[in-house]
Amino acid sequence: MKQQEIMLNTHINESIFEALSEEEIGDDHMFAGLNTPMKSDAFALSDFEKKEKISNLFAQIMDVMGLDLTNDSLKGTPNRVAKMYIDEIFSGLNPDNKPKISLFNNSYKYNQMLVEKNITFYSNCEHHFVPIIGKAHIAYVSSGKVIGISKINRIVQYYAKRPQVQERLTNQIAIELASILDTEDIAVIIDAKHLCVSSRGIKDESSATVTSYYGGVFNTPHKIVELQNYLSH
Ligand SMILES: [Zn+2]
Repeated sequence: MKQQEIMLNTHINESIFEALSEEEIGDDHMFAGLNTPMKSDAFALSDFEKKEKISNLFAQIMDVMGLDLTNDSLKGTPNRVAKMYIDEIFSGLNPDNKPKISLFNNSYKYNQMLVEKNITFYSNCEHHFVPIIGKAHIAYVSSGKVIGISKINRIVQYYAKRPQVQERLTNQIAIELASILDTEDIAVIIDAKHLCVSSRGIKDESSATVTSYYGGVFNTPHKIVELQNYLSH
């Protein structure tokens, strides 16, 4: 099964990690595993408590940088950042925010691939906490159940709203869809721009990163060609 293969690769990657410095891991955006690394007590604090804490800590960061927190324009920033982290851009860390998905019977007997392409998402690089902006293209072949199209979009947004690396985002979306739709016939392609590459570091404005997951029938060359045809129109 594909999921086990990924777990296996993850294991190998983790051992490579021990030999790398912080800088090498961060600037090369190494991929450490399928699951977002979370502490066991990640949800001991309520969202309200988290926002209060983040606000205080962010105020300290601003203060250390020498910013005047009594300034009218700056004084609300720590609160705004805290609210944005918990309620918006990192809301996908909390399983309570996972979209509720209902499935329908495939009553039309549609048995070809369904492609949902150009799903815009905004994520954040977990190594630098700056944006990743991209498009996700999702395809699946129904095993008897179908999913509402907007729900595919919601799953992409849920996993994007975490500190991420693109490989993990790709695989998390694929594994989630495979589990919901009870099929391995899933493809996920992500084409994204990393601001940590374009606006700092190497400062390459034109490069984009493309990752893919091909499960089940999508591992066959003719299905990949068919999918590419859908995506190029
Ligand atoms: Zn980065």
